[in-house]
Amino acid sequence: MPQNLLDFDLEGLTAWFAERGEKPFRARQVFRWIHQSGVADFAQMTDIAKSLREKLAAEAEVRAPGIRLAHASSDGTRKWLFEVGVGNGVETVFIPEDDRGTLCVSSQVGCALECTFCSTGRQGFNRNLTVAEIVGQLWVAQHSLKTEPNRTVPNQSGSAIDPRPVSNVVMMGMGEPLANFENVVTALHVMLDDHAYGLSRRRVTVSTSGIVPAMDRLAERCPVALAVSLHAPNDALRDVLVPINKKYPLAELMAACRRYLVHAPRDFITFEYVLLAGVNDTPAHARQLVELVRDVPCKFNLIPSNPFPDSGYDKPRADAQRAFREILQDAGYVATTRKTRGDDIDADCGQLAGRVADKSGRVIKRIQKEAA
Ligand code: SAH
Ligand code: SF4
Repeated sequence: MPQNLLDFDLEGLTAWFAERGEKPFRARQVFRWIHQSGVADFAQMTDIAKSLREKLAAEAEVRAPGIRLAHASSDGTRKWLFEVGVGNGVETVFIPEDDRGTLCVSSQVGCALECTFCSTGRQGFNRNLTVAEIVGQLWVAQHSLKTEPNRTVPNQSGSAIDPRPVSNVVMMGMGEPLANFENVVTALHVMLDDHAYGLSRRRVTVSTSGIVPAMDRLAERCPVALAVSLHAPNDALRDVLVPINKKYPLAELMAACRRYLVHAPRDFITFEYVLLAGVNDTPAHARQLVELVRDVPCKFNLIPSNPFPDSGYDKPRADAQRAFREILQDAGYVATTRKTRGDDIDADCGQLAGRVADKSGRVIKRIQKEAA
């Protein structure tokens, strides 16, 4: 099997080159060709000696996961469905905004943590994505968006083609990133590396349901912005909605958030809170939430729950959403309600390829129909 070079961060690639008697600066050059120029064909790496190019062609490859579907929403949101093994798909979503382009990246096929309101959780766990499969999502998105005609730099005069359409990454697609720790950390290194994507630590966010020991390890190994999926203000309710809470209850989670902030590139944690009508969305829940987070500098991202087949939950009415948000805001917190994007392509949270892998095949048929 050829070695897939998308599996390496620069350190790994340098070591692989060293084993073959090649100098670190050669690894750097190849790394830049791959990630900055989006080149997969060694023959096109023109400043590399021909002998090395031939050696690489014989022993290595640059292989992103295959694209099963690519889709564009009318609001500019893009979605790719990647093939990661027979019958398995993961999804990546690009969300353009005025001042940034955010890529929502998956880390696992399915998820073992079984949060009750999440379609990925319902699907169960299949496997961890490899580094190449995680980085490959960014590689495909960055380079395919870059070469698209008419992509201009937002909010700037003139019409220069945006050199780096993806400015932000959120690990909020399918899976629990901290349950695929080593591969995610290596992938983060590639995202942050100036010889690759050069993303700011503040613009790369890992979202976790709260695997406490892994939060500490992330702080040590690769501190990036952190989002924690809270979804409930007390242990009794969180034990049900986010079962990992039974292992790492809220007091431990809050303490881990405080420890993380010592190393974090931002001075707050983002708490995600899915609003589930009649379950966790009352004013009393909001007030309890304010108490819970009192010692953790934070912002809130409220996500009206997205329905999926047989989810069993509804999104709260607009006035209930507003009332919940205002209690947080009145207590002095920044709280925003996530707006729905890519509605017409099912690109929203918890609606990702879990649905595509739905045994009924309904969703995939629908997406295919839309794509036709
Ligand atoms: N496993 C990680 C990251 C992936 S989930 C985590 O849980 O944080 C990304 C976000 O989407 C999480 O906040 C998750 O709770 C949310 N989400 C899952 N299902 C959802 C649904 N049905 N509606 C709205 N948000 C959902
Ligand atoms: Fe897994 Fe996150 Fe979904 Fe929970 S919300 S099941 S941790 S992907």
